[in-house]
Amino acid sequence: MSLDELKLKIKEEIPISSVIGNYLTIKKSGSSLLSLCPFHSDSKPSMHINDTKKMFKCFACDAAGDAIGFVMKYRNLDFIDALKEICQKQGINFDSYQEDKKSNPKLDMARKILTKTAQLYRKTATTHKFPPYDDFIKKRGLNEEIAGLYNLGFAQSRNSLCDYLGSIPNEKEREFALLIALELGLIKKDRHNNESHYDTFRDRIIFPIWDQFGQVIGFTSRAIRDDQKAKYMNSVDSFIFNKRNILYGFHLAKNAIREKDAVILVEGNMDQIALYNNGFHHTVAVMGVALGAPSLERLLGMTKNIYLALDSDGAGFTAMERINRQFASSGVVAKYLEFSPQKDPDEFLQAQGALALQEKIENAIPAFDVLLNKILPEKLPEVLDRKLEILNRAFEMMSPLGNHLAASERVVGLAKRLGLKAEPAQIVKTYEEFLEKIEAKEKAAARLRPKIKPLESTSKYDESEDDDQDPGISALEISELELQSKMDSEHVEPKKMLSKTEKLVVQELVQLPVLFSEEKTLELLDLVSSDEVKKYIGKVRKVILEIDESEYSSVISNLTSTPEYSPELREAVSSALFKYKVRELDSKTKKKILYDLKTKLQMELLKNKKDEIKKLQQTCESQVEMTRLLQSLSELEVSLQALKKAKREI
Ligand SMILES: [Zn+2]
Repeated sequence: MSLDELKLKIKEEIPISSVIGNYLTIKKSGSSLLSLCPFHSDSKPSMHINDTKKMFKCFACDAAGDAIGFVMKYRNLDFIDALKEICQKQGINFDSYQEDKKSNPKLDMARKILTKTAQLYRKTATTHKFPPYDDFIKKRGLNEEIAGLYNLGFAQSRNSLCDYLGSIPNEKEREFALLIALELGLIKKDRHNNESHYDTFRDRIIFPIWDQFGQVIGFTSRAIRDDQKAKYMNSVDSFIFNKRNILYGFHLAKNAIREKDAVILVEGNMDQIALYNNGFHHTVAVMGVALGAPSLERLLGMTKNIYLALDSDGAGFTAMERINRQFASSGVVAKYLEFSPQKDPDEFLQAQGALALQEKIENAIPAFDVLLNKILPEKLPEVLDRKLEILNRAFEMMSPLGNHLAASERVVGLAKRLGLKAEPAQIVKTYEEFLEKIEAKEKAAARLRPKIKPLESTSKYDESEDDDQDPGISALEISELELQSKMDSEHVEPKKMLSKTEKLVVQELVQLPVLFSEEKTLELLDLVSSDEVKKYIGKVRKVILEIDESEYSSVISNLTSTPEYSPELREAVSSALFKYKVRELDSKTKKKILYDLKTKLQMELLKNKKDEIKKLQQTCESQVEMTRLLQSLSELEVSLQALKKAKREI
């Protein structure tokens, strides 16, 4: 059975109200099912759930979709993860639907080995008495219950894992298992004898690491003796384990994060366990010095109250700065918890206890305020230029927040503390000019960037994102790279958001498929800049020629409900299908609707062009060029006015 079948099963056999009912309280009102909409701040139930149409729609904020769409949006999951969650809650065996189940034996084997390895280390820890393990647990104030919850294990100095893998009776399977274990970094090849292997983790306390569903994907380990080379040792990054995308303890913390509407981010797995053990269940640990985009989205989908509780050392502070910036780029101001003289939250808890930590959380101040305090020297500089330099650093620091009030207020506050005499409005204006300059620079850089970007596969997990391109690539290599990059770009480039008008075009066409009988409909597509919309509308048009009106809603819904399309597009379509009724329109009405859409698209294109030129003006340095830009701008304005006039006259 395939994922497509699973998708159909969910859509056809499970009432959407039963899926949404897992997350929201649904009330019956007459024949309709209503719920408070979780996608805007709703006071009267605005969300309609319709089991016949198999869709939900909020009449206040326009959020809409099918059951899978709801779970994706509400839980901020991707398509596959949403299917998994629905299966889990409805008691469907997801794995039996995974079509790549057979076609991906590598992944299967990896999962098997990882689970087995975790069991092996856990068993070692619980069935034998190993003083280093027992001491560790005791010293950290952990009981067996917590150790069991975290599946803590122990790796002896012997090659237990190699022994286990070597004992697999089937030769082919054994060879394959060894190969995968090597790739996962769990075992290593003996330098002197290529045929023999040894365990990577020896004399170590073992902490399994899970994905968001609680499946083991790797390990981190801690040395038990001082003379061991590395105190901590992680699984290597592999096809299954990507440090940046891991939030340690997430599967244990997620319910608490939602309940408390807050999350505490710590740096190491021991901190996560310590906080959890002390009742701070809404804690997750970052495994690198930055969050991967999926982790960031996952957290922001659950809460906007972020507490950064990283180590007190320089590295911790840098990580805090970086993660704070990542949240700020999504418009969220994170708070900062400081632990010195203790070196991390774990030590702080041991020294001062849970109440003190709770107090720290309640009094936490925004990370930005800590950072701004840091750039302000104790003794204010007297030279004006030096003051402006500091202000400029503040601009830079606040820039991820854009012109959010949380940024401009802080910038104005700092200017005051610096003793600058300019009016707040002037400071804000200068800050906004600074932002525009950054944006123009980024755009220019994006234009100039060679097309080989997607090929940096080795640095994909690298922490330093702004490495320069290797200058020593020959012309031939570039053309090959470009070709490759074109092939890659479909997967790498993020999907462009649909514009308002493009969304409207999708909605109108889906809601009124009779419009496709007009020839002019396809002309609209020439004015659409989103390839996704073009492709989608093309598909819809083809499909409606082949089906009966009565099937329309379900066919289009199925056609749209794939990860191939962006969430915006899927939402626009669902919203339209919710309103869809079989309707005939006379030719005049159809022409009028199409004309309206066409004008709107044309106006949007002109406006976008105007914006682009305005941006260019800001970086323009030559007089001739400036005159040319002004000329284009006024020409655009004329066309825009003409369109508006024509629209009024109709
Ligand atoms: Zn709503």
